[in-house]
Amino acid sequence: MLGGRIVVLSLCLLAATSVSAASVTVQNLRQWRAPDHTRLVFDLTGPLEHRVLVLESPPRIVIDMERAQLDDALPPAEPDNPLLAAVRSGMQDANTLRVVLDLRRAVDPRVFLLPPAGPYGHRLVIDLYPGENGPAVRDGPAPSAPAPKRQAPREIIIAIDAGHGGEDPGAMGRRYRTREKDITLAVSRELAKLVAATPGMRPVMIRDGDYYVGLRERYLKARRKGADVFVSIHADAIPGGHAKGSSVYALSERGATSALAKHLADRENFADLVGGVSLDDKDDQLRRVLMDLSQSKTSQYSLELAEAVLNELRRIGPVHSNRINQAGFMVLKSPDIPSVLIETAFISNPTEEKKLRTHAFQQQLASGILAGIKRYLGRNAPARTVVASGGPSNVNEHVVRKGETLASIARQYNIHVEALRFINNLGERDPPVGVRLRLLDGDT
Ligand SMILES: [Zn+2]
Repeated sequence: MLGGRIVVLSLCLLAATSVSAASVTVQNLRQWRAPDHTRLVFDLTGPLEHRVLVLESPPRIVIDMERAQLDDALPPAEPDNPLLAAVRSGMQDANTLRVVLDLRRAVDPRVFLLPPAGPYGHRLVIDLYPGENGPAVRDGPAPSAPAPKRQAPREIIIAIDAGHGGEDPGAMGRRYRTREKDITLAVSRELAKLVAATPGMRPVMIRDGDYYVGLRERYLKARRKGADVFVSIHADAIPGGHAKGSSVYALSERGATSALAKHLADRENFADLVGGVSLDDKDDQLRRVLMDLSQSKTSQYSLELAEAVLNELRRIGPVHSNRINQAGFMVLKSPDIPSVLIETAFISNPTEEKKLRTHAFQQQLASGILAGIKRYLGRNAPARTVVASGGPSNVNEHVVRKGETLASIARQYNIHVEALRFINNLGERDPPVGVRLRLLDGDT
């Protein structure tokens, strides 16, 4: 903490508050615990000026909210939270509401305001990440060099993305008030079990609890985990209640193939506003570079994967559309991992909502999705995997030799240098000698 005892973290001045002196009421506090951080969400009646102080010994965070008041007592900290011990509040002066977060250890907070979205009004979000003084539990970015290549055939890694979560409930069933986020997690867990029981395959759960993961973070996590396939699982609603059946979607960079696909992509992309992400999509420029290089091939694989999954889901129940539709789904924007979004059924259809709640149907869906993935992999097994029949090959990797720079390696393989950096999660410096760099698919 730079030796200082007090760090002023954030001073947020909003134009709106300088116009109106009306006070803001803090109506509630919600707490979401993710594996790598804890999210606190204050529900507000409007945007507010706030100041955040990070204090040591004992570790705590003080949040002063200007012209704010409490509606009711804030709920206590959830027991067993590894970071947060207690929440206290009181009026600091006539206008300032002070909330104190007593911490179990030093944390790195990220604080931001969210405008109204979905079921929520204005919110002040505080994400608590474990600080430097203590064991790291963050599922952070990969180290600057990839793990050494295993000599034995590796497992195929299936990234399973349970849609929505935490702040973002997703769609809601009308008859039983079923929340999409619970169904997506249940189906994802079933699928993970089946994948884990399949020789040569390993599941990676992108979300495994009731918390929100940003859409971009979802595919970045899949990349960090070395995923070969990415499936995002949903059960959305459309007005009317009559729509039924499964559908499978892939990314389109050039507009949607149907009105429904556009509607769904807009809904899914809205999740970041509801669930809350603080950072702009800084990688967008870079991603576009990558798109040019590898997306067309990934896009073709994604369509094949989507077809295979839809054909298997057809055996389980009705399908909504016989073709694979495409739209600009943010979560499918991995430049190099075949990715599909599966609308398992419509939660807005009372009959399907009822089915979605049953373990039997959740299992059927999971086994259908896995059968589709297997069928796809049978035709497109990634190199060096247990499933691939060919022998090991080095064409997708490059071992850095003395005197080489990232730029020279990029030239050698005709890859954009930023693409190489992105794919290997490299920082600004050139990689050390001996490091194995992953190259883009399809450069052989
Ligand atoms: Zn959804």
